Amino acid sequence: LFSIFIKQFQSPLIYILLFASIVSFLVGKTTNSFVILFVLTINAVMGFIQETRAKRTMESLKELSAPKTKVVRQGDIKEIDSKDVVPGDIILLESGSKVTADGRFIESIRLKVNEASLTGESLSVHKITDPIKFDATIADRLNMVFSGTIVVEGRGKVVVTATGMGTEIGKISEMIQSTPEPKTPFQRKMESFGKLLIVIVSIQVVAAFIIGYFVRNFGFYEIFLVALSQMVSSIPEGLPVAVTVALAVGMQRMAKRKAFIRKLAAVEGLGSATYICSDKTGTLTKNEMTSRRVVTMSHRIEVTGTGYTPDGSFLINEEKTNPLDDKETNMLLNVSVLCNDAGFKSKTDISGDPTEIAYLVLASKAGMDLEKLKDAFPRTDEIPFEPHLQMMMTKHKKSDGGFLICVKGAPEKIIDICGYFPGDGGAKELTNPVKMELLRKSELMAKDSLRVLGFCYLEHGEDKKLEIDSVRNKLIFAGFIGNMDPPREGVKEAIRLCEKAGIKTIMVTGDHLATAESIAREIGILKEAEEGITGDLLNVMSDDELQGTVKNFSVFARIEPKNKQQIIIALQKQNEVVAMTGDGVNDAPALVAADIGIAMGITGTDVAKESSSMVIADDNFATIVNAVEEGRGITTNIRKTILYLLCSGNTEILVLLTALIAGLNIPLLAIQILWINLITDGCLTINLVMEPKENVMDRPPDKKNEPIVTKHLLRLLFFRAPIMAAGIIGMFVYEILKGQPLGYARTVAFTTLAFTQWINGINCRSEHISIFRMPFFSNRYLILGLIAAAMFQLMVLYVPFFQNIFETIPLKISDWLRIIAVGSTVFWAEELRKFIVHRKKL
Ligand code: ADP
Ligand code: MG
Repeated sequence: LFSIFIKQFQSPLIYILLFASIVSFLVGKTTNSFVILFVLTINAVMGFIQETRAKRTMESLKELSAPKTKVVRQGDIKEIDSKDVVPGDIILLESGSKVTADGRFIESIRLKVNEASLTGESLSVHKITDPIKFDATIADRLNMVFSGTIVVEGRGKVVVTATGMGTEIGKISEMIQSTPEPKTPFQRKMESFGKLLIVIVSIQVVAAFIIGYFVRNFGFYEIFLVALSQMVSSIPEGLPVAVTVALAVGMQRMAKRKAFIRKLAAVEGLGSATYICSDKTGTLTKNEMTSRRVVTMSHRIEVTGTGYTPDGSFLINEEKTNPLDDKETNMLLNVSVLCNDAGFKSKTDISGDPTEIAYLVLASKAGMDLEKLKDAFPRTDEIPFEPHLQMMMTKHKKSDGGFLICVKGAPEKIIDICGYFPGDGGAKELTNPVKMELLRKSELMAKDSLRVLGFCYLEHGEDKKLEIDSVRNKLIFAGFIGNMDPPREGVKEAIRLCEKAGIKTIMVTGDHLATAESIAREIGILKEAEEGITGDLLNVMSDDELQGTVKNFSVFARIEPKNKQQIIIALQKQNEVVAMTGDGVNDAPALVAADIGIAMGITGTDVAKESSSMVIADDNFATIVNAVEEGRGITTNIRKTILYLLCSGNTEILVLLTALIAGLNIPLLAIQILWINLITDGCLTINLVMEPKENVMDRPPDKKNEPIVTKHLLRLLFFRAPIMAAGIIGMFVYEILKGQPLGYARTVAFTTLAFTQWINGINCRSEHISIFRMPFFSNRYLILGLIAAAMFQLMVLYVPFFQNIFETIPLKISDWLRIIAVGSTVFWAEELRKFIVHRKKL
């Protein structure tokens, strides 16, 4: 907190003001000197309050996406905050888990850990549960797992031995330093813009000083102080804080819509994203799978019923059948239950991967007793599912002492490793023509939007360690099961919204091409005639070839994680800003490479989350689009504030320069200028970033290298500032000509300036839309800011104490009427402009 407070004083502007205060004091103007100090302190305090609030919001938001760990407590699997893990906890690890404590393995199933963060060794280590030598070094402690390392394969159970500073990594690093976040491109652009602005303002102010002192012969102190306060007022020192607040508010809005920002750069990335590459299963679809079709060598069975209710019938040619009567179907269902990690006890007691749950529900529909089956065939070995294998295998002990191997996976892979199929009177060899026939069958299912998996098995006597290669060509084909996974609600609309907003949506999936295409057509990613492409084609393309074709496709199927990176790079080479989703451990490089790496909150692994710049809590595609909308809202709102501040500063400078050149007296006192800078600007800038977003999805994304101050913004500035300045000068001259004293004319000019800035604050609510077409009270912060600013102005005009300090004279009703009429011209001019531009567009 202290350093944030101190930071408020560490700016050249503050130094200038301090200098001005000292000079004032030295020349005997103590009131001025103290007013300046007062302005300075208020400024710092306001900046401090806003900045700490914004920082706190951001931190609490980050907390929400803090790492979680799966533990077993009271016999139940629970997901808890990693910081709540204690020694003695049993934690569950799986491919993609980030280990958050040290522990001893009590179960390790082909579990491999990358310990590079601890030992520097980049090869993954196989973990075991056997005892090891008592004096083994860390790298040799094969039955231990260490905090900070990453599980890259398999799964396992660990009992925690140490947490926090007690872990091996904790001992080394004493304190795990969190590296400060690098500045985002926007912030960097903002900084260089700030520097440019200082140069421009200095030139203007020095010019004013030279004219005032040498040509017009004003007193040194008078013109010096006016020039200095003008300088301070023209430099938008409130902007960095406003940006921080805008980001915090935006992040909060995103969090409300279930998108959690992990890296600030993602916010502006979202605003300029041109491509969203999304997973299919669970993101574009509901991931509530229902098995719909069962296909074996001899039958094709349709299954009715929806969701996870185990009610439904099995139909062959519309006629009911009992699947358990048929040997082949019975076997297929058995394999689907055994080669399965999900849990299904009742409609409400479900766990695991929806694809697998569907098979359990299916078997229940057939009347099988899942528990009994699993007890009769205890699992003795397994090869867990990995996306690059596209299959999994389990091995079970049979009551006769033999073993049963069950396999399930992508149809092509299953057909490929099978050697036999069940025929009348024993297994028959699976010849190539039959394989082709099976492949065709699975294609046909996929074309109906079904997610198809193939199943096969092998019965044998030896108790050997499970290896894919040793069972290849021995396995017996069992059949296919097709799952229906309907598109999520709202996805179609979200995709259409993206299209309107100039963003292309791409489906990137590990699933079959035909399934992917069929769903993509349903939700509008693919037009009727368009086709998708598969990962194996990407693998044989050169980088150049891929760059040439990548934009022609919007469905990428059978994609492995490494292909995702290829797609990102090909798109980025063509200046596209790419958002990519990911969940697995192998998705990490793609998530880092993407401009916006989006991790799944539900299915995402720790590693994916940690590599991402944004986490979506509900895995829903529509949430990404919502985040894009909020991201665009943030950048637009920051631009509104910038425009407001530039208009204020430039109006004042125009007033001063015009007066000096036209031979008039100085229309505004130094402390009046400072007051406006502090009060009117202070009340309105932060509040402008609170503006609810307008129709930001009606326009194309921001260009990647768009400057902070766009041409449009400059045009608006050059349009508004002269109108505002002319009003102020006009009022000043009018009062002088009327023979009013200088102090009176100044008060009028001072109040006109304040008023016209309030009005311009309202103008700034939208660059494009008429204020009359916006709900007037939708930004209550701005309304409150306007009221506050008005109260402060009245105080300076009518409270005697302040009248003395600011050298003001109380104004009459007739003055106010004139001020309101003249000060609001900028509003009507701007409305007229918006009207004309709007008409032209129609
Ligand atoms: P996606 O979920 O987008 O289809 P994945 O990379 O998770 O992509 O899966 C790739 C393929 O592996 C799937 O299309 C499916 O054929 C197969 N597969 C997915 N989950 C399992 C599983 N639990 N067991 C066996 N095979 C699976
Ligand atoms: Mg998957």
